[in-house]
Amino acid sequence: MTIKNFFWHTENDTQQWAYKLAQYWLHSKQVVNMLIFLHGDLGAGKTTFVRYLLRSLGVTGRIKSPTFAIVESYDTTIGKLWHFDLYRFNNPQEWLDAGFSEICTINGVKLIEWPENAAHYLPVADWDIYLKQSGDANENSRQIQVKANTQHGKEVLNALHGN
Ligand code: ADP
Ligand code: MG
Repeated sequence: MTIKNFFWHTENDTQQWAYKLAQYWLHSKQVVNMLIFLHGDLGAGKTTFVRYLLRSLGVTGRIKSPTFAIVESYDTTIGKLWHFDLYRFNNPQEWLDAGFSEICTINGVKLIEWPENAAHYLPVADWDIYLKQSGDANENSRQIQVKANTQHGKEVLNALHGN
């Protein structure tokens, strides 16, 4: 496992970090296929990060939080992207019942908020991203930890943010 820590002191930092990842994918010679879990309390910035990512990938128009729909899918400059929010799951079994496991087998980017609500039904993510408010005077500051669990996840993290 590779772990890296970051600070997103302002939303601009969040936007730039997302942009850098989007650029990596855009210039990648492989088919983009990545599973990313987003962990953090309500208001931590999970959806905001995904929005900046989608903007960097050419998605215009309104980007809804999938809190009610559970999943939103997008056609982007790098292919398909699925944005899940499992906040409203009452039972991990709902992941299977909704047929979502199948989506994880399709090439593309899958970002999942509240992955803990689907528990062991989810495959291992390439990245776990942990977001939290820094607790300092700056309410816009976020402390970020990225854990790369797979070989692919490690490669992308190292390529973007050094060894
Ligand atoms: P979550 O999806 O984790 O519940 P949201 O992204 O919906 O959280 O909300 C995060 C809120 O925090 C938004 O209102 C956003 O504008 C604000 N915010 C302030 N600073 C940041 C930052 N550095 N990164 C992300 N969001 C930030
Ligand atoms: Mg959210």
